[in-house]
Amino acid sequence: MIGRSLSQVQQMVNGNGLDAKWEDVRIQGVSIDSRKISGGNLYIPIQGERFDGHAFAQSALENGAAALLWQQDVQNPPDNVPVIFVDDTLAALQQLARSYRDQLDVKIIGVTGSNGKTSAKDIVTSLLSTKFQVQKTEGNFNNHIGLPLTILRLKEDTEMAVLEMGMSARGEIEFLSKLARPNAAIITNIGESHLMELGSRAGIAEAKLEIVLGLQEGGLLVYNGDEPLLTSRVNEMIDLPVTKAAFGNQKVNDYYPTSIALDATGTTFTINHAPALSFFLPVLGKHNVYNALACMAIAEFFGVTWEEMKQGLAQLQLTGMRMEVIKTDNGLTVINDAYNASPTSMRAALLLMDELQGFSHKIAVLGDMLELGNQEVEFHYEIGQSINPARIDYVFTYGNLGRHIAKGAAEHLGSHRVKAYDDKAALVKDLKELVGAKDVVLVKASRGMRLEEVIAGLR
Ligand code: ATP
Ligand code: MG
Repeated sequence: MIGRSLSQVQQMVNGNGLDAKWEDVRIQGVSIDSRKISGGNLYIPIQGERFDGHAFAQSALENGAAALLWQQDVQNPPDNVPVIFVDDTLAALQQLARSYRDQLDVKIIGVTGSNGKTSAKDIVTSLLSTKFQVQKTEGNFNNHIGLPLTILRLKEDTEMAVLEMGMSARGEIEFLSKLARPNAAIITNIGESHLMELGSRAGIAEAKLEIVLGLQEGGLLVYNGDEPLLTSRVNEMIDLPVTKAAFGNQKVNDYYPTSIALDATGTTFTINHAPALSFFLPVLGKHNVYNALACMAIAEFFGVTWEEMKQGLAQLQLTGMRMEVIKTDNGLTVINDAYNASPTSMRAALLLMDELQGFSHKIAVLGDMLELGNQEVEFHYEIGQSINPARIDYVFTYGNLGRHIAKGAAEHLGSHRVKAYDDKAALVKDLKELVGAKDVVLVKASRGMRLEEVIAGLR
């Protein structure tokens, strides 16, 4: 994490007003949360929608902050403590990260896309860690605040950093990419999230492609070659001074799978580039093979061998609630994919259920996919209709939009195999009565639906 004197910090953020007697005080790391201060942190008060961090300056100091930033237009700065004044504390946080990044000798991998950013971030970290000191975004810290904080956590001797870049509107990825100046970038895919803000899937593709605006010369752009909206635009970028690599299922891609086999412990696959090796991913779903292909392109670029990649993949652990396989005490298999949901990731999870073998019953518990805009009802209905009655035995839905999944599903499965709920306790009760040790249950919805409570209920 960043360790600098206050006079250096003042310079880095273009601040002023630091009393000369504090110039040599050194900060160790930054924090924007007064409750999570570690000794020596620089406290950066941010003005949020509901709270103004400046109100917690005193408690940050009591909790061990060594110094703080203060926005000029905020009244009553604390007396007789090390303070640096800035025009805007959020911009200062970002500027501090930008400046620190420029001082570091680190290679940065930026990961964006509609689905699979966190998964790909974890996979590429596993691959690169076989050879390098690697740090990555923790959890989902992928926005205009989380990304700077992640950069400021990088150690000076870290060789590679994997940064997730999320967005909900045009311009955001450009901002993050220009700040982080990645040496390599991944665009996992284009889905339907944020369709409302971006107008169309083409608009989403454009927004993700903004990542090239910060990509360094001589770097690598890895993109989903199965997505025509990406390939057509990338092919137009003839002057982009980077290497381009496409991954995906189709054989026109630079990286594609030559075989994929899955069971309840994970996925075994081979790829065109390393025909002699078979790779094992201890996570489920074909989509994770595609995520892995993107990550392998990155790893190869940075000199990781295929043997090392094989080891890196085998050691993989994904961030929680993403296709997490859980065995309950009575032997039931639960696939916890309750972290998030969009039509693309819903289809990927249902495809995985189609392919899973060796279970007596397969049950999908599906909840609302949020933030889909004015087509949300159709999206839910279509997911329901797409459920294969030969492969999935029962569908339980939760929530107001989930109801439309149930409606679509009932067309092929019949209403006796589909039930919609508004109450999680009732859903859990019925589910418990239905399932046995040889069954598998998929649980998936948007974050806001908190479907992990259903899993807690099953345990
Ligand atoms: P967020 O935008 O919330 O940060 P994310 O892009 O980081 O999401 P993950 O957290 O990796 O994505 O995965 C979210 C969901 O998408 C999970 O349900 C996961 O199983 C699914 N998923 C992951 N990769 C893909 C992919 N390549 N295609 C479709 N679905 C995917
Ligand atoms: Mg994420």
